[in-house]
Amino acid sequence: MKNRKTPMKEQSPESRRRNFEEVALGYTLEEALEEAQRCLQCPTHPCVSGCPVEIDIPGFIRKLRDGKLEESYRILKSYNNLPAVCGRVCPQEVQCESRCVVGKMKDSEPVAIGRLERFVADWAAENLEEDVKPLAGSKKEKVAVVGSGPAGLTAAADLAKMGYHVDIFEAFHKPGGVLVYGIPEFRLPKRIVEREVSYIRKLGVNFHLNTVVGKTVKVKELLSEYDAVFIGTGAGTPKFMGIPGTNLNGVYSANEFLTRVNLMKAYLFPEYDTPIRVGKKVAVIGAGNTAMDAARSALRLGAEKVYIVYRRTEREMPARREEYHHALEEGIEFLWLTLPIRYIGDANGNVEAMECVRMELKEADGSGRPRPVPIEGSNFVLEVDMVIEAIGQGPNRVLLSEFPGLELNERGYIKADEDTGATSVKGVFAGGDIVTGAATVIKAMGAGKKAAQFIHSYLTGEWNPWQK
Ligand SMILES: Cc1cc2nc3c(=O)[nH]c(=O)nc-3n(C[C@H](O)[C@H](O)[C@H](O)COP(=O)(O)OP(=O)(O)OC[C@H]3O[C@@H](n4cnc5c(N)ncnc54)[C@H](O)[C@@H]3O)c2cc1C
Ligand code: SF4
Repeated sequence: MKNRKTPMKEQSPESRRRNFEEVALGYTLEEALEEAQRCLQCPTHPCVSGCPVEIDIPGFIRKLRDGKLEESYRILKSYNNLPAVCGRVCPQEVQCESRCVVGKMKDSEPVAIGRLERFVADWAAENLEEDVKPLAGSKKEKVAVVGSGPAGLTAAADLAKMGYHVDIFEAFHKPGGVLVYGIPEFRLPKRIVEREVSYIRKLGVNFHLNTVVGKTVKVKELLSEYDAVFIGTGAGTPKFMGIPGTNLNGVYSANEFLTRVNLMKAYLFPEYDTPIRVGKKVAVIGAGNTAMDAARSALRLGAEKVYIVYRRTEREMPARREEYHHALEEGIEFLWLTLPIRYIGDANGNVEAMECVRMELKEADGSGRPRPVPIEGSNFVLEVDMVIEAIGQGPNRVLLSEFPGLELNERGYIKADEDTGATSVKGVFAGGDIVTGAATVIKAMGAGKKAAQFIHSYLTGEWNPWQK
């Protein structure tokens, strides 16, 4: 057996630096079969326990290995409503793949579970005419789902499969949440998300787009018209460092920048003339997935030099390793142990530089990571004409501010039971980033899946945590 993963072809860094086409190109059938052979079909299948939606991983790999691709896809889809999305963006390296027995062997890499998932989902899209039964609506109870990110989509799809009438309310004009407004085209093409959302529509779920719950539709209306409500509104409110100069032209939040790039189709420039001015020298502050996406999007929109500025080191960086390596290959420069303390503007109020200070790491802080501390007298000025802050997000608030009795935690997120999604309000469930804070697609999906099961138990009268 080969001890390394079957490689997946990618666009070369030289060509992809200036286009928004997908970086990773996926497996061919031969490559997928070769990789599937590496799975040992362990009876204890530890990989499954690393997956928040508990996909039967050895099962779908076995069917693939036996050339039964349709059956392989059916297994995948019965656990995961968004397999082509997850095959592309899930951090498998810290989930299923981190537990794979093959990866524990000396000098071996785990089975490339994510790549195989992507292959099977893409094969099905090209080769299967999905015969989806519109299952929603056979039961009389109605469920409202607020937010169409991975949490809301999963809850809605699972409830529709159980026969409930499901209405999704989404503030944006497109469903998908971060999958469409945050993650760029070169990592997750919009058509992939559209394809998987269209399956959920076919199940009979109704989408009410351009509808902000808390404004367009009142919370009171939802509570009176629906038998249960699931809130999956995510963590889309940008945080700023609040340093002097934040108001200068050219200082963006990553959220605003990526939303413009993604939803207003700046990635199709010059076909779409989206109002976004990308500087020549761009600094992105932070080193999570959002920072990598913002930096690589700026590069593709024509920036000559892009820095990622982070106050800790490579070791503490929260971004996925794979995307970090992609960013490095594309020529993004990383300034570690560096903290901006002030943005400097020109006479017209445009940012032209930023003052930074160098940091050193001391003993761990509350987050368990080493605490960065400024080195006195180490200040320096970096010339930049655009800054994108990607230092984290807070809860989306519109709905929270007008929800009577909905308890929030000390960080402003919804307090919901981890196992069931139940909140302090009868019949109201929540899950995804609006409960956990910024996390991952698959964790949000796991929360949506669990909540759907418990909404069902609640609506059938089997279980009622609000009963005194
Ligand atoms: C740039 C970026 C890159 C990322 N990359 C990855 C990655 O590679 N892998 C990974 O696993 N995770 C990644 N993440 C994290 C992941 O996308 C999130 O954890 C996940 O999307 C959370 O899902 P959710 O359903 O809770 O919320 P969201 O995806 O945020 O969806 C919430 C939806 O609710 C809508 N909404 C909010 N308020 C209202 C309201 N009042 N009424 C109606 N609708 C409302 C919003 O418009 C939004 O569409 C990334 C995040 C960002 C920002
Ligand atoms: S742990 Fe790895 S080898 Fe074992 S069943 Fe899962 S994917 Fe296959």
